[in-house]
Formats: sequence, structure tokens, C-alpha cells
Amino acid sequence: MSKGTLFDKVWEAHSVGTLPSGQTQLFIGLHLIHEVTSPQAFAMLRERGLKVPYPQRTVATVDHIVPTENQARPFADTLAEEMIQALENNCKEHGIRFYNVGSGRQGIVHVIAPEQGLTLPGTTIACGDSHTSTHGAFGAIAFGIGTSQVRDVLASQTLAMNKLKVRRIEVNGDLRPGVYAKDVILHIIRKLGVKGGVGYAYEYAGTTFEKMSMEERMTVCNMSIEGGARCGYINPDATTYDYIQGREFAPKGEDWEKAVAWWNSIRSDANAEYDDVVVFDAADISPTVTWGITPGQGIGIDESVPTPDSLPEGDRSIAEEAYKYMQLSPGTPLKGTKVDVCFIGSCTNGRISDLREAAKFAKGHKVADGVKAFVVPGSEEVKKQAEAEGLDKVFLEAGFEWRNAGCSMCLAMNPDKLQGDQISASSSNRNFKGRQGSSSGRTLLMSPAMVVAAAVNGSVADVRELL
Ligand code: SF4
Repeated sequence: MSKGTLFDKVWEAHSVGTLPSGQTQLFIGLHLIHEVTSPQAFAMLRERGLKVPYPQRTVATVDHIVPTENQARPFADTLAEEMIQALENNCKEHGIRFYNVGSGRQGIVHVIAPEQGLTLPGTTIACGDSHTSTHGAFGAIAFGIGTSQVRDVLASQTLAMNKLKVRRIEVNGDLRPGVYAKDVILHIIRKLGVKGGVGYAYEYAGTTFEKMSMEERMTVCNMSIEGGARCGYINPDATTYDYIQGREFAPKGEDWEKAVAWWNSIRSDANAEYDDVVVFDAADISPTVTWGITPGQGIGIDESVPTPDSLPEGDRSIAEEAYKYMQLSPGTPLKGTKVDVCFIGSCTNGRISDLREAAKFAKGHKVADGVKAFVVPGSEEVKKQAEAEGLDKVFLEAGFEWRNAGCSMCLAMNPDKLQGDQISASSSNRNFKGRQGSSSGRTLLMSPAMVVAAAVNGSVADVRELL
């Protein structure tokens, strides 16, 4: 089914043909690359003597391995230095635009593309990173891809893809104080499961999303992949257009008018047919924190870690694994659990509005003794803006470290790592075992405001008590 949806329309507009495998050959309008998943893809191109035919449709930045303290070159980590050099060389060889450290445009790939006006409604976007779904906030169809697919897009500007079903996820009503976009998506994943979206694109609709800013919408779409969906999107509207207009790569003059007309035409029709529809009430959503080892293992801050018998049978074995790994007992509250590290950043929550909100709570408070707390802006542009607003000073005065842009402790491919079984309160998107750099490190996902509350209390806390 899924007729008359934005997904359907954008898919049709970008279909080049049907491959012998039955898959669609899909044209990719924008290819975003970074240092981790591209070197092998370029090597494969080189082996076959291929060139990048549309270099203007590829944009590169460096984010995963970038140190966020001392960025002097060569990087102290020789592997990181080799990776950045490989990207520099590959971009030079193929004529690809590269936003390097110090360019003023560097940052997490999913933060910089919207910032530059590269992410546009009705386009197809691919990147060798799972959280490419972020760009769906603009009404783009955006996929995370693997290294061999990065090669395919570099070589042909197309991808072989199976068409997805579409689930409309409606959330209506106003969010309660202390409840953010992060809580909304953690709630959705908790309810639908981490595999609930397999085979689907998620269309987020309803008054709650309509009222969200573009940055909040990005937080939601970013984590679609954590719910198993291949991509997630929101129909473009006036909020989308206001965000895009005037950015460097946004259409200008007459092209702008034409673009808006096209963007309006690709919105899902009022009578669109969906493969599935689920509806949530915003009033049911609390500040949410994960207690386990998947983003679906979340609870409201007032709830206790679920007991096995309160869970569906299929969720019990992963819950048992989580109790053990997280050293938590079923039936006990998460609130009050001591934290060691507090991290604000990532492509989920490292944008300027996230830092503004976090600073509001950090102002006038102090990070608890023994807690390491740090803020990593999502891009050089976010850092510059935050400093212009004095947010860096608010964080520093509160006892947070203020860093340079990068992925940092979202996946700890740089020196920012947990030690031993430390517990981290984190605004990132994955709480898998070992995700933050230590094989026994423990991650609790939450909104940036909740990370501040944890930092100030030295333990998992309810941000509404800081209001
Ligand atoms: S911040 Fe995390 S999820 Fe986002 S691109 Fe970097 S590593 Fe991937």
C-alpha cells in the first residue's frame, strides 16, 4: 500500500529502473561521506579504475575520530591521523568538497548538512552512517548505508534498494514541562520495539511534531533507525522552509519559489494509504531514561526498572542480559542511580537548541563532585554560535568541560572513552554494550536537560525538579 505518501512520491521521482534482482535502482541526490566508512569504498573504486562521476553531489566532513580537546595535527592517535589524511587525499583526487577541521564548517555529518542548506525536502540522501535518517526531518528520504553501498553511490550515484512499507506514527498534544523531542522518540521506540520498524519508513505526523522546531524534528528522525526503521521523515511545512531559506546551498530567487511548489507537492496526501498507523498522546510521555542495553529499554523517570513478569515474553531474555550488564535490579527505581560521566553532544542532541536548553538548567548549578561532565558541540558552527551567546561560560562555570566539535563519546572512536564499568548519562542515541569506549561501560540515554540534572545531582534525576 502506502499510496500518496511523501515516501511514495519521492521514491517514484528518484527511481531509475528495476534491476534484475527486483530491487529499485534509486538515484541519490546527496551523498554525505566521512572518514570511517569511505576509505575502503574509495579503494574499491581505485581497484576498478573508476572515477566519481558526480563529485558535486558528494560532501565530506570528518567527525568520528576527531579529538575534541587537542586538535593539533598530526593527531596524537596515528590511526586517526591516517584516516583524516586518507579522506583529504580522496576528496582532492575526486574533486569532492571537504569540510575539514578548522574550516568553520566541520562537524558531525548529520549536523553540518542541514546547517549548510544541503539537506532539502523531496531529495534522496545516503551516508555511511546509520543515523542518516536525521535528514528525514526535512521531508527527505535518507538512508544509512554500508561501505560497499558507499562505493556504489560514489561510482554510480545510485543504490539498489527494496521499497519500504510506510507506518504513520501520530503524536498529538502538547508536551509536558521537562519533556523533549528525545523523550518522544525514546517513548515511541519503547512502545514499538527496536525491531518494530523493520521493513518500514516511519512518517511522523500529528500536532506534537507540527509544533516542533526543525532541530527537535531532527532529534526524532535521527533515532528512527533505533526503532528498526530504515528511515523516518516529517512532511515539510512552513517551519521547514523558514529553517532552510537563506542557508548557503538553499535555492535562491526564482528557484526558491519553484522549490517550495515542488516541496508542497510531495507532502503526503490527506487521503494517503498507509501500511500501518499508530497513535500516541503527548500527555502520556514523561522524561524518559534507558535502563538497559537497547534504546527500547526505556522508562519514565518516575518508573522502576521493569520486572521480567511485567514484560512481554519475547523481551525477557534481553532484559535478563541487561540487568546483569547494567548491574541493576528489576523493580528498583532508576532515579538516584549514581553516574560517573555526563555527556552532552552527538547528532541526536548536539545542536544549538540542545545546548541552549542544557545551559538553562546548568546556569547557577554546579556539577557534583567526582562527576566528569562535558559538552561537545555538533559542529564548529554550533560551537561558534554557542560562544557568541555565552553558553560556553555557563557550562564552564557550572563545572562542565567545553570541547571542540565531533562525535566524541557517542561512540568513543576518539580519546573520549568511559573507563571500566563507569555509568554515563548521555544525550546520544545508542546504549549498546561497550558503545562508549569501555567493554563494561554503561550508558543511560536521556535528553540534554536530563543529563544536566544528572550532572548536578551526581545521579539520575528528574529535570522537572530543577525547573
Ligand atoms: S554522533 Fe554518533 S551516531 Fe551520530 S554520526 Fe557520530 S557516531 Fe554516528
